[in-house]
Amino acid sequence: MSVAMEKQGELKSIFLPFLSTSHIIPLVDMARLFALHGVDVTIITTEQNATVFQKSIDLDFSRGRPIRTHVVKFPAAKVGLPVGIEAFNVDTPREMIPRIYTGLAILQQEFEKLFHDLEPDFIVTDMFHPWSVDAAAKLGIPRIMFHGASYLARSAAHSVEQYAPHLEAKSDSDKFVLPGLPDTLEMTRLQLPDWLRSPNQYTELMRTIKESEKRSYGSLFNSFYDLESAYYEHYKSVMGTKSWGIGPVSLWANQDAEDKAARGYAEEEEEEEEEGWLKWLNSKAESSVLYVSFGSMNKFPYSQLVEIARALEDSGHDFIWVVRKNDGGEGDNFLEEFEKRVKESNKGYLIWGWAPQLLILENPAIGGLVTHCGWNTVVESVNAGLPMATWPLFAEHFFNEKLVVDVLKIGVPVGAKEWRNWNEFGSEVVKREEIGNAIALMMSEGDGEMRKRAKALSDAAKSAIKVGGSSHNNMNELIRELNEIKLSKAPNP
Ligand code: UDP
Repeated sequence: MSVAMEKQGELKSIFLPFLSTSHIIPLVDMARLFALHGVDVTIITTEQNATVFQKSIDLDFSRGRPIRTHVVKFPAAKVGLPVGIEAFNVDTPREMIPRIYTGLAILQQEFEKLFHDLEPDFIVTDMFHPWSVDAAAKLGIPRIMFHGASYLARSAAHSVEQYAPHLEAKSDSDKFVLPGLPDTLEMTRLQLPDWLRSPNQYTELMRTIKESEKRSYGSLFNSFYDLESAYYEHYKSVMGTKSWGIGPVSLWANQDAEDKAARGYAEEEEEEEEEGWLKWLNSKAESSVLYVSFGSMNKFPYSQLVEIARALEDSGHDFIWVVRKNDGGEGDNFLEEFEKRVKESNKGYLIWGWAPQLLILENPAIGGLVTHCGWNTVVESVNAGLPMATWPLFAEHFFNEKLVVDVLKIGVPVGAKEWRNWNEFGSEVVKREEIGNAIALMMSEGDGEMRKRAKALSDAAKSAIKVGGSSHNNMNELIRELNEIKLSKAPNP
């Protein structure tokens, strides 16, 4: 082995995720991919957040991969939080959110010390750790930023920031075009995230994040070239930065059923329950079942849950619905009765809480999704070759909907009109007829070509991670560059 090769084997990294499930899952998959490529990986997180992925790390470690978790203690007492509340999730009480941010700020010093003590050659940190670009600069190592979104979403946000087209619209529901993008994409003011509509605290944070991205070595996305090539090129050119799409990371990092089942809060699922959904799905015809899920952060008001339940019952299709209780009240009774009814008729299967999404999506019985357009779910659905009924809610979901519906043409919108915060119910209730129409169109394959396009994209996803594929090449290229940087610093023998 040459000296250079030996040094390559020694490339050491730290991965620092944010404190929310849907940012942790893809970043940890990325960390696992680096370990798969022989890079030494330490993931730093807090105890509670580690439970989301520790099973996967243990599996990889048992396979001989150089990967481990370094757990730090969340300063719950210092910020006045009960032990265990240290993530931004569906069950996080709203009033506790600012205190979690304070706890995170307190941890910054400890993170920086670990960056110093563990002597990594580079760090990969979530976009919500903008300070880490300076920490890396102090150590003279590259910081790579992880983006939880799509290239299209980031490009669209940039367009609004730069041209403020929404200010020209006559009303909140008037359509305007997002200028400067590869396609003509239309939105309304109501569909924009609040921080883009008018400046608030989050606008400031997003500015800081962008500035830190420009000073980073580059950025990593859970995307692949054929999925949004025009936006990948556009984004790199407007930002003037390097960026690598290395997705679908869920496909690449979770090659067998054990990996797929270990993902997320898998330990909360009882074995029997898991067998239950699988047995149920396996009894259904190919492409006949709807998968209905709104990600890891969403809760609906009772009135909306009723509309979804009725739409599903009226649709005539079998369905799996991942549903969450609203802390007691009339809604829970309604849902329990609904569950009893659809169980008896064998039309539906409700999963309470956390669903093994990767395993469900790859089951041949699944024929399409009703989705909130969370980016990870969009990529996972593309990977599974499924059309989508799109129901954007918060974050950058409305931008992702544009990619799915207008650019890729593999989705039918339910017609959601209003962006809201992830921890609010908002004022919009999408009616059963609108949900039903989108489901009917999607399941009947819309223009007939939708399912074909989705399947073609699924093939492209699988090619992207193979030797010679775009994501595979990106990964190798990035590791080669990082090795070069390391070698350039090594003292001459
Ligand atoms: N997920 C899952 N089971 C669930 C809910 C979510 O496995 O019951 C996973 C899903 O596969 C995806 C992530 O959690 O990887 C959710 O991320 P996404 O960006 O789709 O939505 P968010 O949670 O940010 O709203």
